[in-house]
Amino acid sequence: MTLPAGIRRLVIPTTLPVGNVNVYLIEGAVPTLVDCGPWTVEAATALWEGLGEAGIDPSAIRQVVLTHPHVDHAGLAAEVARMSGAPVLAHPEAGPTLAAPGAAIRRTVRHLEAWGRRHGVPTPTLGRIIHSYTRWSALTEPVEVFTWLEAGDLLVAGDSVWRVLHTPGHSSGHICLFREEDGTLLSGDHLLPGIPSSPLPEPSVDGRTRPAPQILYLAHLARLAALDIRHVLPGHGEPFSVTRELVATRIAQVHAKANEVCRLLELEPRTAWELCSALFPQVGEENLIFALANTAGYLDLLAAQGRVAPLEDRSPVVFSGVPFVDGLLRNRRAS
Ligand SMILES: [Zn+2]
Ligand SMILES: [Zn+2]
Repeated sequence: MTLPAGIRRLVIPTTLPVGNVNVYLIEGAVPTLVDCGPWTVEAATALWEGLGEAGIDPSAIRQVVLTHPHVDHAGLAAEVARMSGAPVLAHPEAGPTLAAPGAAIRRTVRHLEAWGRRHGVPTPTLGRIIHSYTRWSALTEPVEVFTWLEAGDLLVAGDSVWRVLHTPGHSSGHICLFREEDGTLLSGDHLLPGIPSSPLPEPSVDGRTRPAPQILYLAHLARLAALDIRHVLPGHGEPFSVTRELVATRIAQVHAKANEVCRLLELEPRTAWELCSALFPQVGEENLIFALANTAGYLDLLAAQGRVAPLEDRSPVVFSGVPFVDGLLRNRRAS
């Protein structure tokens, strides 16, 4: 897809399993950078070179918008702010992670340790997942946010006005920018080519985890259907043109996988770890955190629909496709 006028895509390398990340430069009266890449020498070099090829000196950048606080998008933001003098803009819910990314990663590690033990993840595997996730903290540094962007805010970037959409699910402080005049959506990790986003665990400062991020993700994906989106500029992968069915297709993909989970649990009760292994048999260790997040997300979705429930008094927790109520097995769909 040819990019809409006035927008450049800078492809920035990361050392994460996701591969490259897209940074967008919106050119015009208010040169704006959307996302930055991780805090590595390779990413910084690619970013400065990309800006150089666009004929933009870092000092010309007037603002840096962060779609969400993950290290592959926001890790380099503090350095970009130092080099350009530009203010950083983000959603308030991204604030705690941007201000103290190391503490946010430690909170997530504590959550993963407790969740993994409760749901049957073997201790050595859990240790390796945590080890590889902890290394993310080297890819970012704290960044000060000057302006908070909230749902419905209008932002001038380049030569046009963009509407801020709050799109939690993948991350609670996730935003997209939408330009109504030509239907361009800077979608971050909310809408990606080919696959639904992973609803990652993200404990708040008080240690509480988000209630059912998968359900939140689907609800905010559904809201996009009301917009006349024609071009999606995602945080990863190639920009793509949109058909009317795109949002419905993504939602259907999540429900199809959740149905698969339900069928597996009807065949035999399983722990979340056993489910994860059945759903993602080929997944490499670097991606296990995403596989676990998706498994937890499907279980949340099915639990909200009354289609799965934990069996009582099991440690680790065992889920069944037939809810176990008052000591009796009851198939809700049959009743
Ligand atoms: Zn992300
Ligand atoms: Zn990402």
